[in-house]
Amino acid sequence: MKEKHTINTITSFLEQRAPLSSQESYDNSGLIVGDPSNAVQGVLLSLDCTEAVVDEAIEMGANLIIAHHPIVFKGIKKLNGKNYVERTVIKAIKNDIAIYAIHTNLDNYRFGVNQEIGKRIGLENLNILSPAKNALKKLIVFCPEDDTLNLSKALFEAGAGNIGEYDECSFETEGLGGFRPNEAANPAIGKSGHRETVREHKIEVIVSAHELPRVLAAMHRAHPYEEVAHDILPLENKNHYEGAGMIGKLPAPMDATAFLKHIKKEFNSQVIRHTPLLKDTIQHVAFCGGAGSFLLEAAKAHDADIYITGDFKYHEFFDAENDIVIADIGHYESEQFTPNLLLSILKKNFINFAFHLSKVNTNPINYF
Ligand SMILES: [Zn+2]
Repeated sequence: MKEKHTINTITSFLEQRAPLSSQESYDNSGLIVGDPSNAVQGVLLSLDCTEAVVDEAIEMGANLIIAHHPIVFKGIKKLNGKNYVERTVIKAIKNDIAIYAIHTNLDNYRFGVNQEIGKRIGLENLNILSPAKNALKKLIVFCPEDDTLNLSKALFEAGAGNIGEYDECSFETEGLGGFRPNEAANPAIGKSGHRETVREHKIEVIVSAHELPRVLAAMHRAHPYEEVAHDILPLENKNHYEGAGMIGKLPAPMDATAFLKHIKKEFNSQVIRHTPLLKDTIQHVAFCGGAGSFLLEAAKAHDADIYITGDFKYHEFFDAENDIVIADIGHYESEQFTPNLLLSILKKNFINFAFHLSKVNTNPINYF
């Protein structure tokens, strides 16, 4: 039997991995066109959403386009078809086709755009190049001894206590909690007007900022007290499992020219624009899908031999300063496998559902 899903079911699944709150401030990821409660007949996956991609969706009977780049990026004040953005949106609305974008939140996802690129380069030991700041919180909650296990379980299930390859991470200390309920209180332990002392545990867990609302809701549900004593602390620690760009290592050093040939073939680049090759071999490779010049200093700080990305400008190439090799393989080329990545993520959960990879080459750049 064919599965039935709404737009919301599919996009929520993606957002559990790449939450909208992890997108950059300038971005416009999310449902751009469409009603989230609509049933989905089929999904078309593409890097860009253009009129040609909307036509392709119409032809194959897919009513949800999931694209990496948001078709609406800046604000729209009029909608009269004067440019390709407006025409694409108008065509989608007229044909009842929804458009969803998963952009920098997929870039910042640990198993997102860059992990896919790293795999295709053939790198091992992949790590985030620029880990996310202000993305972690510490939650400290106090509860009666007997409820500690139950409360911890609820916190973990809601997403607290994850550090890299470890889950259910917490720290507990014992102590005495004291309180005096007033006349209006309805205390789980003790009675109004009397000071109570209870053996309590203090539970400390790390929580990703995106998960905090869910974790707090779970905490309040599972805690026996009507007033839950808890602290939420911002952390200076970076989240090493979320952020921009990646760095990895080739299993063995590779001849520098042979490495460029390998990249050119793997990413089907017509041309690689690069600064002088500084060493004979390459092993440590930093990279970022799309326009990644903002991560050059991070790539240098990690002692990468080469930094692979797209959209470097003439003057930015000078910034290599003989510290690193910059290799621009093209924006489209670097991110072209993102629809395949989305397909593999979605297929794991929606097994018998109609997902299609777009056959439209949306790269606006030709090489002559
Ligand atoms: Zn891009």
